[in-house]
Amino acid sequence: MFSTNGYAAMAAKEPLQPFSFERRAVGSHDVLISITHCGICHSDIHQARDEWGGSIFPMVPGHEIVGTVAQVGSSVRRFKAGDPVGVGCFVDSCRTCSACREGLEQYCDVGMLLTYNAQDKEGRTTQGGYSARIVVDEHYVLRIPPSLSPAGAAPLLCAGITTYSPLRHWGVGKYHKLAVIGLGGLGHMAVKIANALGTEVTVLSTSKCKREDAERLGAADFAVTSQPQTFTRLQRHFDFILDTVSARHDYNAYISLLKTDGTMILVGAPDTPAPLEPFPLIMHRRRIAGSLIGGIRETQEMLDFCAEHNIESDIEVIPIQQVNEAYERILRSDVRFRFVIDLDSLA
Ligand code: NAP
Ligand code: ZN
Ligand code: ZN
Repeated sequence: MFSTNGYAAMAAKEPLQPFSFERRAVGSHDVLISITHCGICHSDIHQARDEWGGSIFPMVPGHEIVGTVAQVGSSVRRFKAGDPVGVGCFVDSCRTCSACREGLEQYCDVGMLLTYNAQDKEGRTTQGGYSARIVVDEHYVLRIPPSLSPAGAAPLLCAGITTYSPLRHWGVGKYHKLAVIGLGGLGHMAVKIANALGTEVTVLSTSKCKREDAERLGAADFAVTSQPQTFTRLQRHFDFILDTVSARHDYNAYISLLKTDGTMILVGAPDTPAPLEPFPLIMHRRRIAGSLIGGIRETQEMLDFCAEHNIESDIEVIPIQQVNEAYERILRSDVRFRFVIDLDSLA
């Protein structure tokens, strides 16, 4: 065991504060990572405030982790000291169920081990990336392509893979029209990735001030959801809708924007359910689906895809001392488009 420091929520709804804690010693299959950057995902806020229930405190959030390898265990062959690496939303899984064998560790039968807010086999609470160092089994460590900047790559570890995975799973491509609801951390990555896949993207947003950004990011169209004419103009327009909204909202109005056989994919995870009307689905054989992050193999594929297409996240880098203020700004949809903590600020 060794001691490291970071920022933690000590209880639900309390501001995060400086926190020292123990990490496990580097085992033979482990990689010790010196963390340089960590993105702030809205899921960090949901969990730090116990909005989904079952949160474990004290909690060091952070699952968009980038850093350099400081040390490797005796059996590690894939990484060496100095390598740029990343860690996403989970750090272990059973490795034997069919999902794990297929590279879909996020759907592990036994349950993936979350990077933070979970208990490992030894009963230790996992702690995330708002910290100086982390120890992770090499199988759950990603390679960061050298052409990507560490800060701009960090949000790819969650926002990037969460939007890449469903777009690939449903084969969203050149001949499709896609709506992205919510232009936040996930939404802006969805626009960039779908654009690189040749898809025609429309952003549906509550913030009319985001129009120019949406176009710069590669959207062909932009519509404000508070205007009723948006829903008449875009009736039966889309093959796919990717819903990234973090708060409770009405799904039914959006479903009517799908063509016959269209699919609405939920990735946004509000803490309260919203009603679903059967008729908008029945009338045009529409589908509603969900998707959870992505497996290790696909996350590496996404990182390489982003490097090939020069895709990074649009970020605002902050010192860790500003994390509570950043949470408040995220809740006001006031971020373009991801906060990334510079962990040098911990020193
Ligand atoms: P974010 O940066 O806060 O973006 C969410 C966006 O949703 C906001 O920027 C805003 O965009 C829109 N929005 C917010 N409140 C709204 C409301 N009341 N009605 C309509 N639109 C609203 O959050 P994020 O980090 O992208 O995460 C988004 C959600 O995805 C969170 O619930 C998070 O927990 C979840 N998530 C899921 C997965 C997964 O695997 N499925 C992975 C990561 C995150 P506009 O200003 O454009 O309206
Ligand atoms: Zn996340
Ligand atoms: Zn498994």
